[in-house]
Amino acid sequence: MDILVIGSVAFDSVETPFGRGDDVLGGSATYFSTSASFFTGVQLVAVVGEDFPQEPRDFLHSRGVDLTGLQTQPGKTFRWKGEYGYDLSEARTLETHLNVFETFHPVLPESYCDAEFVFLANIDPELQLEVLRQVERPKLIACDTMNFWIDGKREALIRTLGHVDILVINEAEVRQLAQEPNLVKASRAVLGMGPKTLVVKRGEYGVLVFNEHSVFSAPAYPLEEVFDPTGAGDTFAGGFMGYLAATNNLSDATIRKATVFGSVMASFTVEDFSLNRLRQLSWENIEERFRKFQALTAFEGL
Ligand code: AMP
Repeated sequence: MDILVIGSVAFDSVETPFGRGDDVLGGSATYFSTSASFFTGVQLVAVVGEDFPQEPRDFLHSRGVDLTGLQTQPGKTFRWKGEYGYDLSEARTLETHLNVFETFHPVLPESYCDAEFVFLANIDPELQLEVLRQVERPKLIACDTMNFWIDGKREALIRTLGHVDILVINEAEVRQLAQEPNLVKASRAVLGMGPKTLVVKRGEYGVLVFNEHSVFSAPAYPLEEVFDPTGAGDTFAGGFMGYLAATNNLSDATIRKATVFGSVMASFTVEDFSLNRLRQLSWENIEERFRKFQALTAFEGL
């Protein structure tokens, strides 16, 4: 099954204690699509400006990403500037320039309207809703967002969440969305807003998956070299949704395995700036790290 994704395609300027990148390729949909493309086909919906070059288009195309839904409009591509401190746990946004996203209205190509797996990557929740209105019979809708939209477009976001099966956000965003400091109580509150499953990304502490009946925990891979956490969340979501769509199975056991595939993919992204590590990745690398994840958490029962 292919996945339809709407999100940002961006130029990022990022500074970490280990280096910096200026106007490098980024965006929630770019990381998501590249990661998901290791598992299944991806249909991309986004907008870029006339300043967007050919090379990233060729790269995404070479990964099997369908770019029919990528519009090019007069103006500049979305730009984000952020920095990280030594613990690399949370990005501090310095600048967000929506640019061509300010006037963008997604129109799905005919061939996208029967998508069964839909990922609403981090972007204006009103655009997320516009996409949902055009998809005929989705089987699974998953969604990401961030503090920028929780603060700025709360009502639209809550309307979007009413349609969402799986919400994938980070720990601080769960607390902010629920307006509740305790993570377990906050997660219950978020599950009350619509999603049946909540995936809480906790950076170097891994991921917690909450549903009505259970909680599952996956670690993050302990890496010796972490350069840039930008895109880790979107890359996680790409591996997670990619595995669900490839298996076309939504059982609890499959969701757990998808969580580990998401964590495997994110562990590669943080090893280099921009999409540089994902560009070099092979399926053998992914399998090898999946096995290391298994070994990391294997223990005997009582
Ligand atoms: P993450 O996976 O959370 O690290 O996402 C990082 C990506 O999100 C960067 O490549 C940015 O271009 C993108 N981004 C940052 N702010 C926004 C925003 N307000 N809306 C959409 N995308 C954003």
